[in-house]
Amino acid sequence: MPDSRYIGRFAPTPSGYLHFGSLVAALASYLDARAVGGRWLVRMEDLDPPREVPGAQAAILDTLERYGFEWDGPVARQSTRNDAYAAVVEQWLRSGLAYACTCSRKQLEGSNGIYPGTCRDARHSPENAAIRIRVPELEYAFVDRVQGEFRQHLGREVGDFIIRRRDGLYAYQLAVVLDDAWQGITDIVRGADLLDSTPRQLYLQELLGVAQPRYLHVPLIIQPDGHKLGKSYRSPPLSAEQAAPLLVRALRALGQQPVAELSNARPADVLAWGTAHWDAARIPRVATLEEASL
Ligand code: GLU
Ligand code: ZN
Repeated sequence: MPDSRYIGRFAPTPSGYLHFGSLVAALASYLDARAVGGRWLVRMEDLDPPREVPGAQAAILDTLERYGFEWDGPVARQSTRNDAYAAVVEQWLRSGLAYACTCSRKQLEGSNGIYPGTCRDARHSPENAAIRIRVPELEYAFVDRVQGEFRQHLGREVGDFIIRRRDGLYAYQLAVVLDDAWQGITDIVRGADLLDSTPRQLYLQELLGVAQPRYLHVPLIIQPDGHKLGKSYRSPPLSAEQAAPLLVRALRALGQQPVAELSNARPADVLAWGTAHWDAARIPRVATLEEASL
């Protein structure tokens, strides 16, 4: 059923090049949008200049083009959105929902990544401090289209989390929620490594009074040696010559059943086939590269 109200997005971070795992996420978000006649946007999550690899933005967009992806409208860049992020942080600081934290890494050792609330009522100046948002002692839950129900108790499992870093850079959790709302994103399709960020994002959506999108977290791709395929260690960049066979392989990782001849087709034809045959109900919760291979 065509749903022209659907707005999806692919939101790469230019801290590296596209790898097979990011291709799977890009492909799933693209096909899920196009299969219902929806829009598909690309947003460059260039929030963190020190971690940006020079040339990565251009390389990512070039790879997407060579793989046949066509996005709607201009590419949005988070680096142009600092005023919007700052306004929200200011507002939450003023209302007391957010506060400055001066804890050093060393001071936070041993708390298992769950902030113990040390600076909650210390009234530190926001200059030269990280800014954290208070979380409620509540569980946030949602039903993912692939991963099923996911719940997390923000107080016990996360703690007050950072929305602006000490170096002044805005946190992913804040920027992603503001930008998804600003761009009117109805459906978030992304890698399962972000499943456990989602409850924090639901909480921020609630604070902002914005609509909650639908979520579909595509399987993590597990290498035959059991390692997760990701940016944490060097995954090979995607080669342009291999576009069609790698798209076919990505379709298989998503549980789709592409016909073998597609590997010799043009990338745009693979995407057209994928759009016409897209069945999100077939997506597995976890995929290994072996299963996914040609
Ligand atoms: N920029 C994030 C990444 O590349 C994805 C953010 C998202 O899809 O919400 O991992
Ligand atoms: Zn602190």
